[in-house]
Amino acid sequence: MDEGTFFPEGARVAVLTAEPIGRPLDYRAPEGGCAEGAFVVVPLGPRLVPGVVWGPGEGGFDLAKLRAVNRVLDAAPMRAELRSFLLRAADYTLTPPPAMLRLATRSPGLGEAPGPRRVYRLAGTEPARMTEARARVLDALQSFGGAALTLSELAAAAEVTTSVVKGLVKVGAVLEEEAPRDLPYPRLDPSLPGKELSGDQAAGAVQLRAAVQGGGYGTTLLKGVTGSGKTEVYLEAVAECLAMGRQALVLLPEIALTAEFLTRVEARFGARPAEWHSGATQTERRRLWRMVGQGDAQLVVGARSALFLPFRDLGLIIVDEEHDSSYKQEDGVLYNARDMAVLRASLCSAQVVLASATPSLESWANAEAGKYARIDLGARFGVAELPEMRAIDMRAETLPGDQWISPTLAGAVKARLAAGEQSLLFLNRRGYAPVTICRACGHQIGCVQCDARMVEHRFLKRLVCHQCGDSRPIPLACPSCAVEGKLAPVGPGVERLAEEVAAKFPDARVAVLSSDLFGSARALKARILEIAEGAADIIIGTQLVAKGHNFPLLTLVGVIDADLGLQGSDLRAAERTFQLMRQVAGRAGRGAKAGVALLQTFQPEHAVIRAILGGDEEAFWRAEAAERRVAGMPPYGRMAGIILSSPDLQAVFDFGAELARRDGPLRRIGAQVWGPAPAPIARVRGRHRVRLLVKADKAAPLQAALAEWIGQMKPPNNLRLAVDIDPQSFL
Ligand code: ADP
Ligand code: ZN
Repeated sequence: MDEGTFFPEGARVAVLTAEPIGRPLDYRAPEGGCAEGAFVVVPLGPRLVPGVVWGPGEGGFDLAKLRAVNRVLDAAPMRAELRSFLLRAADYTLTPPPAMLRLATRSPGLGEAPGPRRVYRLAGTEPARMTEARARVLDALQSFGGAALTLSELAAAAEVTTSVVKGLVKVGAVLEEEAPRDLPYPRLDPSLPGKELSGDQAAGAVQLRAAVQGGGYGTTLLKGVTGSGKTEVYLEAVAECLAMGRQALVLLPEIALTAEFLTRVEARFGARPAEWHSGATQTERRRLWRMVGQGDAQLVVGARSALFLPFRDLGLIIVDEEHDSSYKQEDGVLYNARDMAVLRASLCSAQVVLASATPSLESWANAEAGKYARIDLGARFGVAELPEMRAIDMRAETLPGDQWISPTLAGAVKARLAAGEQSLLFLNRRGYAPVTICRACGHQIGCVQCDARMVEHRFLKRLVCHQCGDSRPIPLACPSCAVEGKLAPVGPGVERLAEEVAAKFPDARVAVLSSDLFGSARALKARILEIAEGAADIIIGTQLVAKGHNFPLLTLVGVIDADLGLQGSDLRAAERTFQLMRQVAGRAGRGAKAGVALLQTFQPEHAVIRAILGGDEEAFWRAEAAERRVAGMPPYGRMAGIILSSPDLQAVFDFGAELARRDGPLRRIGAQVWGPAPAPIARVRGRHRVRLLVKADKAAPLQAALAEWIGQMKPPNNLRLAVDIDPQSFL
C-alpha cells in the first residue's frame, strides 16, 4: 500500500480545503509533523477550516512567513488513490477540486476527539414490572444484536421517551456504560454458505469470483430479469472480496431498498454491514466514516455519495439497478455515480459489477464493445416466471373522459380480487391531477415562479409545483377570471386514480405508494413490507414501486399510461420507457404464481411498445444503438449541457449568445454548440434558464475545450453557469 511522504515539523506542505479557492495553499507542517493525506485544520483568514495535506508545498513564498497547520485530526490519512480519484472526477465533471473534496469530507464531527460516550445495552435480566414501552426497549436492543446504542438512538428505535430507558437502568435490566466512540462493525463471515445456485447463476458466480480474485480492475455487466438471482450472484463476488480481506461497496438507488438488502446480507454473512445514507444517524455516519478508513467496516451499503468514502482497500463496487436515473446527481456537483464507480475502481484496482434487468444503453454498448464483461442470467429463479405482457389498445376501449381504468383492465383486477391476489396499477404521476383548468375562462393554473403547471394534491389540500416545490391552497375562484366553482382537474395522478379504484372496487383494500405521501423513508419502508405481506389488494404506485421491491402476492400489473414516457423530446425517452415498463412488469409473478402485465396504450404499434411486448430486448437495444450511432449521440458521441440561469431574462440570453459566438475552443476539437435556447423548463424559482448543448466526437478532448471556452467569459453577478457532462435529463 502507498504510504506517502511524511513532512517533519516546519516543512512546507500544500493543503487543499473545501473552501472555494480552487487550489491547495502552502502551510508549515505543525509540531510532530504530518503525513501526506492527513486530515488537518488550517487557518484561513480569520477562520480555522478543515483540509487535507495534498503534497509538498509549491514554494515561492517565504517559509518563515507561512502560517502553520493548526492541528492534525485523529483520522486515517486520505489515501493517494482517493486523492487522485477526486482530482480525476473534478477534471471529468469540470468541478473545482474543493467542491469535490467537500463530497469526501462530509463526516459529522470529523474534528472531534474520539472520546467516550454513554451507551446502553441489555443486562440480561427482565424487569420485575414489564410494560409495553419497556418491552419495546428490550426488543429494540435485541434487534440490534447486542450492539450498544446511545440514549437518543435507543429511545427513537423503541419509540419511547428517554425516561423509560432510564427507568430500565434503575431496575437493572439495561446497562449504562461509558464506551469508546466509533466501535468497529461486527465481522461478516464470507465463508458461510450461500444459497445453492442454479446453472447460469453458478457460472456467473464463478466468473465474478475469478475476476475479484485477480485483484485488478474490471467491470462486468450483470444482466438478468428481476428475480433471476442477480443479488445472490453478486453476493458471491462480495464473499470473495471479503475473504481476500478487501472492502466492498454496494450502491442502491433508493434508501427504501436498504432494509430488505441488509436483512439478506445478515442472512448470508451472519452480521449486518455498515449503512451510508441520509437517513442514518449522525453518530452512525461518523462511525462509518472512521471505520471505513481504518478497514474496520468490511462492507458498506449506501447511496451514491458512499463512493467518496475513504476506504482503506476497496476491492469491489456493486451498482445495483445501474440504469436508475437517481444515480445521476442533478444539483451541486453533477456526476453520475455509475461512471464514477468505474473511475474509482480503475484507480484502486477494484472490480465493478453493474446489475440491471434493463441496462443503460451506455453499459450495454460498453459490453458490446468488449470493454465490460457480461453475464446473463436467463430465467427467473425457481418457479416464478416473467409475466406475460399484453397491450390494451385504448382506441378500442370505451371509457368516460374522467376515468382511466379500461373495462379490460378492470376485468383483470376483478379476477385477481376474486382469487385473493394482488394487483398493481402503475401511473408515474404524483398528486391528484396534473392540470387544473378554469371551465369559465380556460385558464390553467401555473406556478408564479416557474414555467410549469401547478399539480393538485388533494391529500395535502394544495396545489404544488413539481419544479420548485412551491405550494398554495387550492383556490375557490379562478385566479384569472375570478369566477367561483369552475376550477376542474384535468388528467389523472395517483390520488385521483385511487378515487376511481375506490368507486370501481368498493370492497378492495387500496394502498397508494407515492413518495410524497410518506413523512419518512422509515414509514414508507414499513408500509412496503406490510403490503408485501398482503395488507392491500390493489396497489397504486408511481415509479417508486418499479425499483426492486418484492411483492410475492402480486400477479397483475396494469400500466395506466404506457405512452407517458414516449412524449417529449428527450433523447432517452424510449430507453427510459422501455426500462420502466420492464421493471414494473417485473413486479408481477415474483412468487409462485405467474403474472400478467397489461399496458394501456394509444400507440400499440410504436417501436418501443412492440419491443416491450415482444420481449426481444437485444433487438430494442440494437435498434436504439443504431439510431444514436447515426446521430452521433451518446454513447457514440459526447455531449455536455451548459445551463445558464438568472433572474434577468435579457442578461442570460445575451451571455449565452456571446458564449455561443466565441466557440473557437470548441471548433478546434470539431465540437458543435447549439443554443442558447430556453431550457425545456424555462423558469425555475424565478430564474430564467437558458441552455447550450455541446456535441463532440467520442475521442475529442471535450473537458479541456469546455474549460477553455467557458474560461473566456466571466459571468455577471447573479448569473449562474452549470456544466453537465453526459446530461441525463434534458431539462
Ligand atoms: P434479482 O436481484 O435478480 O432481482 P434476487 O437475487 O433478488 O434476484 O432473487 C430473487 C429471489 O429468488 C430472492 O428471494 C432470492 O433469495 C431467490 N433466489 C434466487 N436464486 C436462488 C437460489 N439459487 N436458491 C434459492 N433462492 C434463490
Ligand atoms: Zn414553481
